[in-house]
Amino acid sequence: MTGETKDFTLITPSAEISEQSHGGRAKCLQRLIRLEIPVPRTVSLSFDAVHRIAEGERPDTARLLSAFGRTPLVSVRPSSEDPDWGGPGAILSIGMNDERRAELATRLGQEAADRLYLRFITAYANDVARLDPEPFEEAAEAEDPVAAALAAFEDEADMPFPQEPAKQLAGVLRSMARAWEGVSARLLRQARGAPVDAGLGLVVQDMAHGLGPGESGSGVIRMIDKVTGDPQVMGRYKRKSPEMRAMGRKGKELYLATDPRGTSMQDEAPELFAKLVDIADRCRNRLREEMEIKFTVAEGNLQVLDAVKVQRSARADVKVAVALAEDGIISPREALLRVQPKSLTELLHTQVDPQAKRDVILKGIAASPGGATGQLVFTSRAAQTSASHEIPCILVRRETTPEDIRGMHAAQGIITERGGMTSHAAVIARGLGLPCIVGANKLTISARKKTVTTADGRIFHEGDLVTVDGTTGEALAGAVPMLEPALDTAFRKLMSWADEVRDIGIRANADTPDDAHMAHTFAADGIGLCRTEHMFFEPARLSVMREMIFTDSEVDRQAALEQLLPMQREDFVELFRIMAGLPVCIRLFDPPLHEFLPSDREGMMGLAESLDLPLSDVVRRVESLSEFNPMLGMRGVRLGVTVPEIYDMQVRAIFEATVEASRQAGKAVVPEIMIPLVSAKREVELVKTRIDAVAAAVRVEYGVAFDYRLGVMVETPRAALRAGEIAAHAAFLSFGTNDLTQMTYGLSRDDAGRFMGTYVSNGVFHEDPFHTLDKEGVGELLLIGAERGRAARPEVVLSVCGEHGGDPDTIDFCRQAGFDYVSCSPFRVPVARLAAAHLAL
Ligand code: PEP
Ligand code: MG
Repeated sequence: MTGETKDFTLITPSAEISEQSHGGRAKCLQRLIRLEIPVPRTVSLSFDAVHRIAEGERPDTARLLSAFGRTPLVSVRPSSEDPDWGGPGAILSIGMNDERRAELATRLGQEAADRLYLRFITAYANDVARLDPEPFEEAAEAEDPVAAALAAFEDEADMPFPQEPAKQLAGVLRSMARAWEGVSARLLRQARGAPVDAGLGLVVQDMAHGLGPGESGSGVIRMIDKVTGDPQVMGRYKRKSPEMRAMGRKGKELYLATDPRGTSMQDEAPELFAKLVDIADRCRNRLREEMEIKFTVAEGNLQVLDAVKVQRSARADVKVAVALAEDGIISPREALLRVQPKSLTELLHTQVDPQAKRDVILKGIAASPGGATGQLVFTSRAAQTSASHEIPCILVRRETTPEDIRGMHAAQGIITERGGMTSHAAVIARGLGLPCIVGANKLTISARKKTVTTADGRIFHEGDLVTVDGTTGEALAGAVPMLEPALDTAFRKLMSWADEVRDIGIRANADTPDDAHMAHTFAADGIGLCRTEHMFFEPARLSVMREMIFTDSEVDRQAALEQLLPMQREDFVELFRIMAGLPVCIRLFDPPLHEFLPSDREGMMGLAESLDLPLSDVVRRVESLSEFNPMLGMRGVRLGVTVPEIYDMQVRAIFEATVEASRQAGKAVVPEIMIPLVSAKREVELVKTRIDAVAAAVRVEYGVAFDYRLGVMVETPRAALRAGEIAAHAAFLSFGTNDLTQMTYGLSRDDAGRFMGTYVSNGVFHEDPFHTLDKEGVGELLLIGAERGRAARPEVVLSVCGEHGGDPDTIDFCRQAGFDYVSCSPFRVPVARLAAAHLAL
């Protein structure tokens, strides 16, 4: 074949080949040819031609093969538009038949000729003729494997093995074209992001065996370590000299670069090695990517068969993108676009090594990423004991409550039987950066026997070693190798480029000074949500808190609050100091009070002891505070209106901290105060009046002027609908999409895990709405709230502070709706910063 036709194109520097018409592999081969890299003769079939073959058109393979001389031997490989979309496996040595076998035996030896023929017969039988693989596996063991395989083919297919290369090639092309159009292949590539009508090209290439006298062999080379991304010549070379074959050996694996562990190509064939390194360098510079290059050597001659992007870890991806940009090969903008935001999670946490062997014992919702190994414990107390002996542990609970906070702090990983993406365990674990699996509802936990029984009946006891993989939602038996986090220079560089381009703020949800440090480390633009109740979970504070909740007397309550005040004030001073002038948004107390009281007898006895009260009093009080539906009960602003002393104490602590922090910093701190769970403007008015009064009192007492900004959390549907009148009293509206999702769907955020899997797999929900914002429903409330809020108060600051804030799709939605910032767990801040940059590019 000379020239080009529409169907078959000989790949030359000037041939008309594009990713969109012939696929990525064909285009890459053309680029290699343009770089004057030696590539075997290759003919490319367009998407259109392959599609017609799948439909039944017979390709003129005799003409196609004429491009490869009189006795062609070729390979066929898939060439989809994006190599990540995959495609049917390659088929090699098409053209092998009895005649070629005899001829090759004289040139390369009988063994090599037989091996090539046998492999081709088997591939043809399996992939083209679709015969049962077993007889061919048996044939491979026979004394004369080729004869046995030919006989097996004739038996199974009822016809002799085709000897004409053109017929063989036609069969191969048809089977590969049809495989691409099959349903399972289509679903697989769509899952990888391919459009429904993605096309397949095929490349037919002259076989370059890497066999022959003199230096011969085949291998791959790449210039980086796939896991770390560090520059390093890696790969392998399988030397197949005739001498070795004569000794009955298949070939010898050599290292590429000099290596103390054994023989290397660099030492044995330095010129060849230098040529390969030069090719790999040219590829990096001109293809603007780290490529894995497949090559063969025959009689000392190097041929490059193919080059594909090096498949690598997320951390290597960041390193490569930044290195390419710093070497001036790509722009920083392109480096940003080359890293997937979600993949950054892999860098921020210790991860289970993806290469590790996995003995999966349970599966649930992947609620907080990362990997950790530890001994099983079943109570928070056991977790704390474990921590005090410096023994890593994994806390297993049916669900967690605020009482478990200390245990969660002490544990390395968390598993709960119940719960969903925004249940207590999930939210806290994400904040702490601990791997967590929730909704593992196929488990049976016996806290009494201290055992977990898995779905397949395996029993694990307290003290057994397990690994939580919060990235996949799986727990594994025993310890598993881990990869450490990689917040290296490359990561920081990439993040700084992201910050230069993004146009929406990214704050962190941070409750404690530790969280604030994390938020600052991840360069959040401020704190968007400080859930103050989380500050009360330290042992000393919890008991004062309980005293406060417990008492019926105003005087005693005031006394308890006065004890809590300095503790809160110190926390706030710390937060302001750590955030160094960045905004800090503090939410007033939100959860139902009874969450702070013990739920079991043991806990109540402890409380009775510490309060010096009869147990019956404690039980009665706990009962009196219990509600049928606490999430919709006395919590949030309802508590602020009903027991206003708590908010009074909190805002006083905030204002006193403001005075102190401003003094320390030498410049004014302006705190943001946020009221939770509002549903009516009157609630805001009542709370605001009291806050103003406290502010005025503190100003007078300290003789210092300060400002503050008051905002409202929009997390009930009514607040979104009435955002106009609410915004009249609020400098900012922060959408709490966790509660807003819960209330919009009427779906408990703590129980949804039980049926979420079934709902998503049945397509009732596209995705877990606690994970990815439901744009149609909850999103509409966001838009209504934003529009009405802005209409009443054009300068009102809008944000999302629910867990959705860290989700790239939600950020896209908020950005388009003109929101000012999103706020998410500190560990999700980098993902959000990069996602926001992608959106702005
Ligand atoms: C929310 O409801 O979205 C929110 C941020 O508050 P919390 O998760 O504390 O209820
Ligand atoms: Mg809420």
